[in-house]
Order: sequence, then C-alpha cells, then structure tokens
Amino acid sequence: MVEPTSTNGSTSPRAERKKLIEVNHLVKYFPVRAGLMQRVKAWVKAVDDVSFFINEGETFGLVGESGCGKTTVGRTILRLIPHTSGEVLFNGHNVFDLGSGDLKKMRRDMQIIFQDPYSSLDPRLPIGESISEGLRVHTDKSGQERYDIVAEMLTRVGMRADHARRYPHEFSGGQRQRIGIARALALQPKFIVCDEPVSALDVSIQAQVLSILRDLQRDFGLTYLFIAHNLSVVEHFSERVGVMYLGKMVEMSPRDMLYADPLHPYTQALMSAIPVPDPTVKRQRILLEGDVPSPLNPPSGCRFHTRCPLAFDLCRQEEPPFKDYGGGHYAACHWLETGQRGDSKLTPANIAEKKGQQVARQVIH
Ligand code: SF4
Repeated sequence: MVEPTSTNGSTSPRAERKKLIEVNHLVKYFPVRAGLMQRVKAWVKAVDDVSFFINEGETFGLVGESGCGKTTVGRTILRLIPHTSGEVLFNGHNVFDLGSGDLKKMRRDMQIIFQDPYSSLDPRLPIGESISEGLRVHTDKSGQERYDIVAEMLTRVGMRADHARRYPHEFSGGQRQRIGIARALALQPKFIVCDEPVSALDVSIQAQVLSILRDLQRDFGLTYLFIAHNLSVVEHFSERVGVMYLGKMVEMSPRDMLYADPLHPYTQALMSAIPVPDPTVKRQRILLEGDVPSPLNPPSGCRFHTRCPLAFDLCRQEEPPFKDYGGGHYAACHWLETGQRGDSKLTPANIAEKKGQQVARQVIH
C-alpha cells in the first residue's frame, strides 16, 4: 500500500480505521478538440490534484456547486472515465493499474447509484433483467439463483418481488431510485458511489431513500462516497465531508466540526444558504458575487480569489496549501494560514469592513 500523503487527511485520529478508498493527487482533464484534425486546443481542468480517503463502513460526503468536479471524481474512481494522473487505491490496490481481468473482479466490489435512475435503466427491459445484468456478467449463477437475488434486493429496498416483471415507466421516481439501489446491491459490493441519489426526488421521498441507504450500510457494512450539492442532506448522512470548488478540494473535515465551524470562506458562504428549521432564527446569508470561472482557464493562485471577499495579493499569486487546522479539519486558504482564523468569519458587516466597501448583500430569511 502506498503511504498516505499529508494532503488527504491522513493525520486525523479517524485515520486509524481501515481505509477502503484512498484518492491521491487525482487529476482529470478533458480535452477540447477543434478544427478538421480535431487537435486538442485546450483542457478542461475538471479535477485538479484532489486527495482524500474513505474508511471502511464510512460515508464521505462530497459537496460543491454544479461543475465543481465532484461527479467527475466519483466516475474517475470507478474507472467509468479515464484519469489523467494520480492514483486511487481500493483495499491498497491502484485501480488504474488493473488489467481487464482484475478490473472486472473489482467492478463487483465498486458500484454506482446515478442521479437519474430512469436514464440508467433500459426502458425495453423488465427491471428484474436490469437488476440481474451484473449477476449475468460477473457470476455463473443460474437463472433461478439470479431471480432469488433480484427478489431479495427488491424486498430490501421496500418493493415486491413481482415488480421484477414490470418496466421502468411503470414506476414513480422514488421507486425507480430504489430499483437503482437494488441493482447496485445485487453484486454485494463493498463500496458505492452515490451520485446525487436524491437530488431529483421530492423531499418526503428523499427521506425514504436515505433511510434505505442507511439501513443497507448498517446491514451490509457498505462504504459510500455520497455526492450532493445539498449540504443539509450531506450533514445528516455523512461522517466526514469534503468541499470542492472548481476542481479543487478546499475544505475537508469530520462532519460536526465542519458544520459547527466552517473555515474556508467558500464553505461559509455555502453554509449560510442552508435553511434553518426554526422560524424564530434568522440567518445572515452571504451572497457571493460573480460567476464560477471556467475550468478551461481557472484563476491563478487560489481559484476562489475572483469571488472571495477576503482575497488579498498573495491569493492571486500562490495556491494556498491544504493544511490541517486541528482534528483532521483541513482547509486551503491563505487567510487562515496567516493566523487570522478567528477573523475569517464572513458576515455582511465584516466583509464590508474588510474590503472598505459594501461587497456583500445581506438577506434576512
Ligand atoms: Fe479567499 Fe485568499 Fe482564502 Fe482563497 S486563499 S479563500 S482568495 S482568503
């Protein structure tokens, strides 16, 4: 096994648990081709030097705005798309080094649940066929054995065995997501990438699906990479959380520390948008100015500097190091590094004070 690096959170006390997944300096660039010869003209830097680990039986939440690279991280880990550089260790083995035979074996242990279950199910196949597809490819189980497993998986996700004969269009969105979970489970994997599994569902259905995922984790000892843009969902579902911005991990921490004391200005802005379920509590929301820059040509230094109210000269010149500020709470920010942690809390008032102008608008919910 490759020794963990200092950038993936390995000095945390939790690091003593067995790591199932270690992502070290993962990079994924997509080529932009143009012209008759389809030459590469530029690169979209979707994921740029991202490191983290996931302990066995743990849920690691990965959050960030659309386009920050979190889904690309999940798909690259599973080798659904090729990586550019870096490594992903699964049980100590680099998945990028595996030949086709070993990769086929590994695919039994690493599955994915997609955001849109409808587009990931073949509309011409009864769902039982879709759920048992992996069993046909990866095992030599008989038709009856496959049927028994399908029936068990459907029951596990709160459906009936006879649903196996029906087609995807006969089910609601929540039921289709349950089918997607049953399919991911059929091969009894160790690790599942949950790629925005509840984003397309109504809130009441979200709770049911999350409850199913939690029960399955308890019963099967599953390890999850839980990708979402909804910080409330991640808070209730994850043990540790990583926050991504424009292809970079900007903060990573045990959940309770992150939600009690977010360090990075970007995380603070995201947190300020979480609704508080108490009408007597008013939260000051931080509205970031400007759009997320293009990953084709990301800003120099700290990628957040074009939108950060605390940015100063160094931020435009040098990329901030990803440092542990105690207890496995990592962040990449020059402001914190210069010892101004206590002064880094964003509020509309102190942003205006620091910048000498009103750069944030206050919205009282
Ligand atoms: Fe803001 Fe600078 Fe910190 Fe980046 S490094 S988050 S620009 S203060």
